[in-house]
Amino acid sequence: MSDMAQRVAVNDGAAGSKRTSRVRVAVRLRPYLDKQDEKGEGPCVRGLGPQKLEIINWRNATETLQYQFDVFHGEQTTQQEVFLTSVKPILPHILNGQNASVFAYGPTGAGKTHTMLGSQEQPGVITRAVKEVFRLVEAQGKDLDGWEYSVGMSYLEIYNEKVLDLLSPGSQDLPIREDKDRNILIPGLTRTPLSSFTDFDTHFIPASLNRTTASTKLNQRSSRSHAVLLIKVVKSQRGPPHRQQTGKLYLVDLAGSEDNRRTGNQGIRLKESGAINLSLFTLSKVVDALNAGAGGRVPYRDSKLTRLLQDSLGGSAHSVMITNIAPEYRYYFDTFSALNFAAKSKQIVNRPFVRETVLAPTIAPGKRAREEQEAGGSGE
Ligand code: ADP
Ligand code: MG
Repeated sequence: MSDMAQRVAVNDGAAGSKRTSRVRVAVRLRPYLDKQDEKGEGPCVRGLGPQKLEIINWRNATETLQYQFDVFHGEQTTQQEVFLTSVKPILPHILNGQNASVFAYGPTGAGKTHTMLGSQEQPGVITRAVKEVFRLVEAQGKDLDGWEYSVGMSYLEIYNEKVLDLLSPGSQDLPIREDKDRNILIPGLTRTPLSSFTDFDTHFIPASLNRTTASTKLNQRSSRSHAVLLIKVVKSQRGPPHRQQTGKLYLVDLAGSEDNRRTGNQGIRLKESGAINLSLFTLSKVVDALNAGAGGRVPYRDSKLTRLLQDSLGGSAHSVMITNIAPEYRYYFDTFSALNFAAKSKQIVNRPFVRETVLAPTIAPGKRAREEQEAGGSGE
């Protein structure tokens, strides 16, 4: 622990010397749910090890399509494992003036909110990350003479391309600005100082309940807007020259990625669909451009979400996208497009994603889950 604190202290100021703009892509498959499978068809997706999975080919049910990602979290994966593998490693950077972002992407019903928020019994990424930030701050506070940390939170929603403050209900659309140092900020946004995790809970729980469970209508809305939690860590030098470093951590529960045009939406729904499609489509272009490497234009300005994340996605920021998928057939096409969204971003890196057609090793619906571990080399 103190070893890490020292390393960070020594490393002070060297932030950003290495380009780490690639967005890591993890896929999390939620457990199969009987009630999501009225026809009793069994799952159509399964894991093939720590980085691979396969999905049945709808054109030919004797074939599967295989995908490879940075990490694959199978259906048995616990909340703690997801946190340890995909999120915890990036947190020390935000105490050091760097930015980071974690997204949950995927169709409605696939587990985004479970991953980010979780429940009382199974807390998700948000709770664990905020606790860890306070733990790191306390551990380093002891070692860092002459510096102090302050932690604050903001919580907002992007709905229909409007930025709404969730800590100040009833507020109007807020403008996104960029300062001369290219930091992105929202001038009117509530920023609540936090002195402990309990403090965070006190402010966050009511605001998030408000958003997710107030009514069916709001439930629907929660799958049609992006919920963005910002944890800001400011490290300040007590004496002259009063240097300051600000690190930002964005934790984002994205709108459902299902194709809204297919559901025959009209009126306001259609407008929402357009906004969701625009922001998720732009996010995918941004991730592609970043993972393609230097050179190309990154279209941050094409949507509010990517504009807001501009200084925390790419550059020296550390980002991970957790694509949530569901195993039942009723999600098939949404799963397929979510996987293609996620895998596309892999294709451009040097380790291209594997998407080959292989014969399915005679899959008997319903008893697949247990066979998973062994399935690695059976693609004959
Ligand atoms: P989304 O936010 O993507 O619409 P939810 O997180 O609300 O999806 O998940 C849909 C349902 O599946 C919820 O009832 C949730 O509790 C359950 N669920 C999702 N992921 C898991 C998981 N990994 N383990 C157990 N249940 C899960
Ligand atoms: Mg949700």
